Amino acid sequence: MSEPLVKARNVHKNFGHVEVLKGIDLDVHAGQVVCLLGPSGSGKTTFLRCINSLERIDAGRIWVDGDLVGLAERDGRLHRLTDKEIARQRRDIGMVFQRFNLFPHMSALENVVEAPVKVRGVSRADARRRATELLERVGLADRAQNYPAQLSGGQQQRVAIARALAMQPKLMLFDEPTSALDPELVGEVLAVMRELAADGTTMVVVTHEVAFARDVADQVVFMDGGVVVERGAPADVIGNPREERTRAFLARML
Ligand code: ADP
Repeated sequence: MSEPLVKARNVHKNFGHVEVLKGIDLDVHAGQVVCLLGPSGSGKTTFLRCINSLERIDAGRIWVDGDLVGLAERDGRLHRLTDKEIARQRRDIGMVFQRFNLFPHMSALENVVEAPVKVRGVSRADARRRATELLERVGLADRAQNYPAQLSGGQQQRVAIARALAMQPKLMLFDEPTSALDPELVGEVLAVMRELAADGTTMVVVTHEVAFARDVADQVVFMDGGVVVERGAPADVIGNPREERTRAFLARML
């Protein structure tokens, strides 16, 4: 099999004296969907943020598409990347947060147009064409001119997904994308994510939506207390968990 698109080895992260990640390994191959499940506080979000340099790891290595995250080898030694270099790495990784973080003073369309124009130097006309297609893809063609405050949480999150996709990322990271939504709005966001998965988008998803993970994930990773307790196909990890901690968690969720 080819090199994974995301490869993490022995990733450690501390906040002060608290060790939040205690040696995480992960392989995500191109086109795969990996769901990170586990109790609150187990380190899932922190790990996701490490992949995207929103947190700096204390030990271990992460590669995205063959490039070390946050580090570069020069003169036979590893150096921290500059802020500018980190920003360049992050361009190729889309991230969707629990809170949608749309620009409130911009329409849905303008939110999606902004980054390709400002960061990639795409012409505004091209960016608008592509943004229109993306809004269509997330089912919001008729909402292009609305401002975030005029949209439901589910619609805002779909705009946020379109905005991330506008940068044509190699990888999409989702950090509990439905947990801030009213229950009746969760389905429309998951439906968009299911379509992305079906289209071959490489995705790492932190979620409490066990049914989504069961149906969509190629690999489920169950974390607890900063370690991976169990990983594998959803039919195994969710359908027939080996570890007591996984069973206890799933019993609470289902
Ligand atoms: P999960 O996503 O599994 O709920 P998190 O990665 O959010 O877990 O958090 C793991 C642990 O790290 C928690 O104990 C949390 O309080 C702590 N933590 C997360 N972010 C910070 C931070 N910026 N500073 C200090 N502690 C943090």
